[in-house]
Parts: sequence; C-alpha cells; structure tokens
Amino acid sequence: MEYGDGTQAVWAGEAGTKWQRSTQVPIAASVSFGYHDVDEWLAVAKGEADGHIYGRNTNPTVAAFEAKVAALEHAEAATAFATGMAAISDTLHTLLDPGERVVSVRDTYGGTSKLFLDFLPRLGIRTTLCDTADHDTIEAEIAEGCNLVYLETPTNPTLKILDLERLSRAAHRVGATVVVDNTFATPINQRPLELGADLVIHSATKFLGGHADALGGVVCGDAELVERIYRYREITGAALGPFAAYLLLRSIKTLPLRVAKHNENAMAIATHLTSHPAIDGVYYPGLESHPGHEIAKSQMRGFGGVLSFSIKGGFDSVRKVLPRLRLAHRAANLGAVETVVGPPATTSHVELTAEERASLGIPENLVRYSAGIEDTADLINDLDEALAVLA
Ligand SMILES: *Cc1c(COP(=O)(O)O)cnc(C)c1O
Repeated sequence: MEYGDGTQAVWAGEAGTKWQRSTQVPIAASVSFGYHDVDEWLAVAKGEADGHIYGRNTNPTVAAFEAKVAALEHAEAATAFATGMAAISDTLHTLLDPGERVVSVRDTYGGTSKLFLDFLPRLGIRTTLCDTADHDTIEAEIAEGCNLVYLETPTNPTLKILDLERLSRAAHRVGATVVVDNTFATPINQRPLELGADLVIHSATKFLGGHADALGGVVCGDAELVERIYRYREITGAALGPFAAYLLLRSIKTLPLRVAKHNENAMAIATHLTSHPAIDGVYYPGLESHPGHEIAKSQMRGFGGVLSFSIKGGFDSVRKVLPRLRLAHRAANLGAVETVVGPPATTSHVELTAEERASLGIPENLVRYSAGIEDTADLINDLDEALAVLA
C-alpha cells in the first residue's frame, strides 16, 4: 500500500542520508566529496556508483529534498534549483530548440511570461500565449502543431483554472511535452502528473517552503526528461544550496497540515467577502460562482490558499484599506504561514500599464490575498475592520 501525503511529507526521501545516527537530514555544507580509492571515485564520477562529487552537480541534503518532492508529486524523479524561475527557464531551455514552438496562456507568472514574450523569441523559439479562459482557442493553437505546452493553474492573480486532462490530451495528440507550474496548488491539492502532464514545476519559495525564508525551485516527472534538465542545470549552475534545501525539507514535513489550513481560511474569507458591501468581485475557484469551479472540483482536492478581490472605489480604496490590515504582510510573496497581501499593480504585474492590466482582466482595484494559517475568525475580523474605513 502506498503511504498518504502526511506520511510521505514526513518520511520520504530521508533514508540513507543520516550522519552519526542523527534522526534529521544533516546540512552537508561541503563543496566537494572526497574519495580515498581512485577507482571508487571514478565509478561515482561516471555515474556507475551512487555518491557525490561536486556541489554544483549534486549534494546529499539537496538530494533528500528532491526525493521528498518527487514522492509527493508521485514522480519518478526530481531535480532542484536555486529559485523557481531557474527551474522554469532551465526546463524551457533544455526542451526547446530554435524554430520550435510553445503554446501557453497569458496569465502565467510574470517572470515566466517575460521568458515567453522576450527571452525565448530572441533565440528563435516561437511562443503563442492564448486567452487563459478560452480552452477552445488553446486547443486549436496546440492542434496547429507545437513542441511544448506550458500551463499554470490556478493562475496569478485572478485564479483562473485550466483543464489539465483536456489540454494534456490535446498536447500529446501533436507529440508535445506538457509542463505545469503547480506552485499555487501544491501536490497536496493537485497532482498534474496524474492528469496527464509530463513535468511539474514548483517555486519552492512559496508553499513548499511556507515560511518566506528560503528561495528554491524544483522540476519533477519522467526520469529521462528530468535527467536531461539536470544535465543542463549542472553545467549552467543554478543549483539549490544545502542550507536552503534543509529549510525546505523541514518545511515540507508540515505541508499537508499547512495546506489544509490555507484552504480552509481562503474558502471562508472568499465566502465572507462575496456578500461584503465594500467588495465588488471575489476570485476564488472554491466559489460556485467561479467560472472554473467545476473543473477545479474535478482536478483539485482543495482550492488553495490564494484568492483575490476587488474593492469598490478603485485604487484609492486599495491605498486606504491595505495599511489598516494588522494580520498581513504587504509584500511580493505568497504561500507563507503569515497572510500576505498586495495589489498586482505593485507586485506581480508592476511592469504593465493600467491598460495592459485591464486587457488581462486585472482590475486596478484588485488585491491578491494569500491566506496564512492564522485563526480564520481573526483574519475575517481583520479584513472587516480594515474595510470599515470605506463605510
Ligand atoms: C513565485 C513564483 C514563481 C517564481 O519563483 P521564484 O522562486 O521567485 O523564482 C513561478 N511561478 C509561480 C506561480 C510563482 O508564484
């Protein structure tokens, strides 16, 4: 019988990593790994025996982190990166050649969309970004022929939902590789590999880390694809460090508990704000009124910790309300144990003009709210008190 998420989060990936009978995975703060026997060294260097050679390639603490994430995503293999963006860019650079084509959506994470709009086209890679809500168009663009389909769901900041099973099927019909950024959902709420994806990416900086004190990224999936991406990363060098790997490993032990509370808080707050007189829109896939609710219900086990809402009265109201929140960091982050808020106009979509944000369906009075693990009633009271300034 396969262990459940709670058990895997605590135990997976740790066997064989302990030192001097420590019960916890040690931080292997060592750039290189030494060998007395030259033949043994040679065997490890050639990949014929298990072991580590040099920290840019592999490290025991990082390897434990990779194995734990792979277990939670039900993946054959995983490879870790210094940041989520390193994981995303190395994956795209490994899998795409000049003349090839990517189909994705307009609502990907800001840094990812910069790769699609600027960096990849400069290398002769064609990118087509579709309206995120329009599955027919995405499917039609895929059917035109492409090498890679890049998806993210739920999206940032309006929590749109993509049907991973349907779009993976469309991608595989034309022989394309499907890559999914699963940062918002986490493997606790959604496992894209089981829905047809070939690779799953995380910014471990967010929910996996959960404490806003370590950057990291990870790619998992099919062993052969992950091996190719690892070969690119070991040369280009965006390796995860052992200290960050240790923090992330320790955090993942509580991921299932944290995600359950994030889900509960976000759902309660979204429901509460729906009938609040100062709010004119709430975006959360757990709400029945959300256009992606049915798809979310079928492919997710929880709706996640992030929601967004628009405050009546435009950006002026945002300016008045946000400083009055006592239980929230006003910062460009999400997925932490503390609640974090920010308007897309100053965080994820700061490079765009108001008109460009409007064309993406991001109103100027929108606030992204990453619900922490505080007590639900306290968060609701905090929001009510802050919004009262508008009454
Ligand atoms: C933050 C984020 C990233 C980038 O991760 P970094 O660790 O900041 O490089 C990518 N995708 C999503 C959905 C994110 O929220």
